Amino acid sequence: SQHLWTKENVVNSPYNDIQLPSLNVTDYIWQNLDKWADKPAMICGITNRSYTYNELYKYSRILAVKLRTQWDIREGDITCIMMPNNPEYAIVTLGSLEAGAAVTTINPLYTVHEVQRQLLLSNPKIVIGSPETIGLIKEACKNTRMNLPIIAAKNSNESLPPETISFLELIDDRNVDFSVLNTVTKNIDDIALVPYSSGTTGLPKGVELVHRTLVTNFVQQDAEGIRHYQHTTDSHQESLLAVLPLYHLYGLAVILLQKLTVGAKIVTLPKFERKTFLHAVKEHKTSLLHLVPPLASFLGSHPSVEDEYLSHIHTYISGAAPLPKQDIFRVLEKSKSNVDFLQIYGMTELSPLATTVPPGSKNYTSVGVALPSTKLRIVDSDDQNMEPNAVGELLIKGPQIMKGYRNNLEATKAVITDDGWFRSGDLASIDYDGVVTIRDRIKELIKVKGFQVAPAELESVLKEHPDILDAAVIGVPDAKLGEVPKAFVVVKDGCKQDSTNVKKFVEDRVASYKRLSDVEFMKSLPRNPSGKILRKVLRENYS
Ligand code: AMP
Repeated sequence: SQHLWTKENVVNSPYNDIQLPSLNVTDYIWQNLDKWADKPAMICGITNRSYTYNELYKYSRILAVKLRTQWDIREGDITCIMMPNNPEYAIVTLGSLEAGAAVTTINPLYTVHEVQRQLLLSNPKIVIGSPETIGLIKEACKNTRMNLPIIAAKNSNESLPPETISFLELIDDRNVDFSVLNTVTKNIDDIALVPYSSGTTGLPKGVELVHRTLVTNFVQQDAEGIRHYQHTTDSHQESLLAVLPLYHLYGLAVILLQKLTVGAKIVTLPKFERKTFLHAVKEHKTSLLHLVPPLASFLGSHPSVEDEYLSHIHTYISGAAPLPKQDIFRVLEKSKSNVDFLQIYGMTELSPLATTVPPGSKNYTSVGVALPSTKLRIVDSDDQNMEPNAVGELLIKGPQIMKGYRNNLEATKAVITDDGWFRSGDLASIDYDGVVTIRDRIKELIKVKGFQVAPAELESVLKEHPDILDAAVIGVPDAKLGEVPKAFVVVKDGCKQDSTNVKKFVEDRVASYKRLSDVEFMKSLPRNPSGKILRKVLRENYS
């Protein structure tokens, strides 16, 4: 059906346009509350600590009142969350939004250097951590001289450092005046989330997502013929496992927030660990399992994953990085015969999804067609639209595109054209039926296990080394992790360095998944006349 392609080689979605939303994120989630008020919303996969939808609503609003009255949180302010996945993640996110604030999320695996950087960039008014992250947050606040209140989502009697406030205290409803919330304006064009992404180039940047773009993407995923789940009824509730990190938008928006809009049960795991993961899948009868490629590979190839664990799963969804074909078929072999397996494609800047594969499809290796109200095109290096099946850069246009990079108009203009097309930095092709296949990445971003690693960040860490004059980092293929960062280093005259030292220097400063796999020493780096590193040359000649 060639009808999706216009004369200008723009590709339309096969679905009817959605009605653009009029509610903000929290109102959109709460609108159906009475349909599933007493059903579980959030459960800890380790301790079974849980919150019903009603409790989620109540505690989010109590937290919002306290954020307004005790810390003077106002519209336009940012709250920062740095926690591993836990059920309270939903409460602090929704509580912040109820208070009129926007939320920025920090990877709980970050080192103190990385935390400091994001605190300085996002300038939050309060930080919400957990017993696992509170020490690091305090150290980062001290080093940056940011005198920020710190809350810890403590759920038991664990002791907390002084000057931190316990989460239990925060959701205590004594003396809470809910009328405080009547004056909060939550305009749908206000910023709701500020996740960090390096995008096409450079260092991680704050991605401003307003309520409207987020709710739009909720609705786009929920359209009839697209959704891979049923809305909760008295007799049915989907069960999801949130093991992919909630600080990343795939976890926060697709697995958590969007699923709260349909009444699903979300089981959180603070990290991937084989035994607890398999136990949670079985115990909580996971029905819809979101994956990233290494997790798909684990499910497919690990002998401990027997079909009894997978018996309740009707759909697997993988995203965030390319998925090798053999892993898909291995998972399918272990699963029920009528199970769906699909890939979704998107990015933080798109709130986050652009394409989808409809239920029942056996199209495993492509990323499907444009979501409703979304247009696609493929362009060559001169920015000319290309024909069906040609490989070029994928551009996307739709109401889910971010507002822009925070305080960075230049970076925003580099990725969004004047007429509203977003440049993905991914190489793709689109067939006659509008089905997209991702071929490669042209942007410098590296994805390790689906986690973002920005070469510019590692390069700047390397250049902090007193013996290093110049450095470039690229991603090289890795069978297990997808890609890993490799560095090319030029040492200063008269200095001697070996790769073990250089690796160790980086290791001390970045989260473990950003560690260098390899260091190659060079006399100079290939650069173009304006000084830009020619990563392509490095990739072709040295990796
Ligand atoms: P992020 O902003 O961290 O979600 O990263 C977005 C990038 O991840 C995209 O631009 C792609 O390069 C990559 N990506 C996301 N989904 C897929 C997929 N299904 N297949 C291949 N690459 C993907």
